[in-house]
Amino acid sequence: MRVVVTGAAGFIGSHVTDALLARGDGVVGVDSFAANYDRSLKEGNLASASSHAAFELIEEDLAESDLERLLAGSDALVHLAALTDARAGHELTAEYERINVDLPRRLIESAASCGVGSIVLASSSAVYGGARSDGTPSSETDPYRPIGLYGESKVWMEESAARAVERMPAPVVSLRLFTVYGSRQRPDMLCARAIAAATGGPPLQLLGDGSQRRAWVHVSDVAAAVLSTIDSNLAPGSVINIGSDETNAVSDLIREISRLADSEVEVEQLPAHPADPAATIADISLARDMLGWTPRVSLTEGLGEQIAPTRAPAR
Ligand code: NAD
Repeated sequence: MRVVVTGAAGFIGSHVTDALLARGDGVVGVDSFAANYDRSLKEGNLASASSHAAFELIEEDLAESDLERLLAGSDALVHLAALTDARAGHELTAEYERINVDLPRRLIESAASCGVGSIVLASSSAVYGGARSDGTPSSETDPYRPIGLYGESKVWMEESAARAVERMPAPVVSLRLFTVYGSRQRPDMLCARAIAAATGGPPLQLLGDGSQRRAWVHVSDVAAAVLSTIDSNLAPGSVINIGSDETNAVSDLIREISRLADSEVEVEQLPAHPADPAATIADISLARDMLGWTPRVSLTEGLGEQIAPTRAPAR
């Protein structure tokens, strides 16, 4: 199978790429090496894939790409490239529309016209804004309630996928990823910053009091969900939550990182951000039923895996 993975040099994209290569698929990875974090980290993310004969890397900005040429002859498209700042302000609306909405819309159209058999889009739990007021898990039929521009852009992406499905037979599925963690995590994300704080980096700047609860899901479980989606025969336009069925408070996570790293995470507390919901809670029954998927990695195991590379002995 030939699979195009956009955002292949990123956190989730590099794990999806490795998982596809490991099962014998060919991967065309596309990444612009955007400046959201260090290029050297993204190159490191692809260290294993780069030496694989079935991997090809195309470095380009997809907004400028000839998408039909890129997708011709491919069996599947996994679209992960995006602007990812959940706290971005509305002064960036045009850029979020260009990359997070127009680009996936054009990719869906091009993939459908090239006969690509499976199109997987990375959506987000940010489309829910936060947990339901009664504290029960968010399910895929809940109304959209995004809080900020990032969540809004994922809503617009899902809506444009739904419109595309009305116009053409586009085999597109949106996965609503909850909070993903694990090795190679984006350095702006909480676990990565907490681990850095425990291993000699600057104190963790924590927005809010740490009581926020999240349905953390390990990146290897997310990669498994993406592969199951490619292999499934889901109805075009399907939307599926991918998260943990447990929630943990940020303060518990910080305590666990301190314990596993055997070093206290020093915290500098700052005011909460309006785009940070108090909780996200995932109903993952659809993923279980439709994909046969269930998260396998516990938070303790997953944090241990993420911390391990930072403790490797210096050579
Ligand atoms: P990431 O920044 O590590 O990876 C995204 C990659 O896309 C980067 O390497 C970047 O260089 C590339 N990219 C961005 N714009 C591009 C363009 N125009 N052309 C080509 N490449 C481009 O982010 P991530 O955390 O791996 O997120 C991947 C996807 O998953 C995103 O769509 C994000 O919104 C979604 N998501 C992530 C999480 C999470 O917890 N990390 C949660 C929900 C949804």
